[in-house]
Amino acid sequence: MDEKGHNSLDAWVPRSLVRSGKEVLSASVTAEGLCSVRIGWEGGVITSLEPIHCESKSSLKLLLPRLVEPHTHIDKAFTWFETPNLAGDYQGALAANLQGHKNRMPQDVLVRAERALGLALNNGHRAIRSHVDSFGPVADQSWEVLLGLRSEWQSLIELQLVALVPLEYWTTSQGYLLASRVAAAGCLLGGVLVPPFDKEASRSLLCHLIKTANDLNCGIDLHIDESQIEPAAGIKLLIEVLDQIGTNVSITCSHLSSMSLLPRRALQRMADHLAQHEINVVALPLTNAWLLGRKTGKTPDQRLLAPVAQLQQAGVKVAVGGDNVQDPWFPIGNLDPLALMSFSMPFAQLAPWKRLGLSPFTTSAANLMGLEWDGTIGIGSPAELLLLDASSWSEALSSPPQRRVLIHGCWADEMTIPRTKSKL
Ligand SMILES: [Zn+2]
Repeated sequence: MDEKGHNSLDAWVPRSLVRSGKEVLSASVTAEGLCSVRIGWEGGVITSLEPIHCESKSSLKLLLPRLVEPHTHIDKAFTWFETPNLAGDYQGALAANLQGHKNRMPQDVLVRAERALGLALNNGHRAIRSHVDSFGPVADQSWEVLLGLRSEWQSLIELQLVALVPLEYWTTSQGYLLASRVAAAGCLLGGVLVPPFDKEASRSLLCHLIKTANDLNCGIDLHIDESQIEPAAGIKLLIEVLDQIGTNVSITCSHLSSMSLLPRRALQRMADHLAQHEINVVALPLTNAWLLGRKTGKTPDQRLLAPVAQLQQAGVKVAVGGDNVQDPWFPIGNLDPLALMSFSMPFAQLAPWKRLGLSPFTTSAANLMGLEWDGTIGIGSPAELLLLDASSWSEALSSPPQRRVLIHGCWADEMTIPRTKSKL
């Protein structure tokens, strides 16, 4: 905002996020692909965007669109203390998760989810997709709590929910009832397909899931191949099923970690199959790096992570998510998009000054979630922005920067945000 109090500011914005190149043709552009602009807004909409000459790099701050978390688990966030998994492996996480799930109360889900939403909002998110443990006695109440929060928070954060159940559950009558309710609420069907599994039984479960999703016109987001064994076994099966049963619903594969172990040509063919079937991918570098490839007394010699670049080159939409937040699956995490970008630089070799390094956190993530706005900045875009106390990517990602969040054209620190029910 300028000294006269007008709704405008001068900032660095990533050149790859400016919708029309014409608007910034004469702007200064740094080696990190940031261009200097004066951006104005009114009534929640960007009304002007003009290039400015910048004398000194440090005189401007970095401005981003509000960001998107395409894969997390807010129903069990912050449960590490109650159900830690000190071994840090997948099986230990699963066991601790089931233990925690047995004792879960709706109030716990409310407290965790509100805390997660508050953090996400302050850290700069505008939309979150959360998987929700959806079987067992507390499932219905968890959904009631989360759907309630979804409407209470809708003007601040768009919350998408995915029903996470064992795939078998979708074949039961309770499963169909859940699927109908999930579809009616505009949410997604989820599940887990991780080897070792019985191929024929899993094929039949996937067929059932796709048919159910087709019947209900409901999207799918699966945890698939979060593993270091049997490279791409789950996605191969899914492709075979989709070759038999067509679908128009959106399908997202989360993790897809073991696909990177395929030989080069097989990987390329698989990436082409994903593109043909318009399957989206969410890579989750943090939990993969923590949980997978563990061997006692050995530092991993493989990087188990969805092959982001090869998938992008094949035309697959790839987003990067943070996944678990301080729960048995991952002891740290804070729903901070800048921290996620920062970790992803060394783990996934994704650099935000490259278009395909930034898109998994911005435009691809928004498109994958089917959001109305893809996060590009131009005249007519929503005034939903994130101003960082940093003048370069290097500075912004070296330690999580202070930031201000602009929501519908108003700074969040000047707005009254409703107090949470759980009084955090
Ligand atoms: Zn997950």
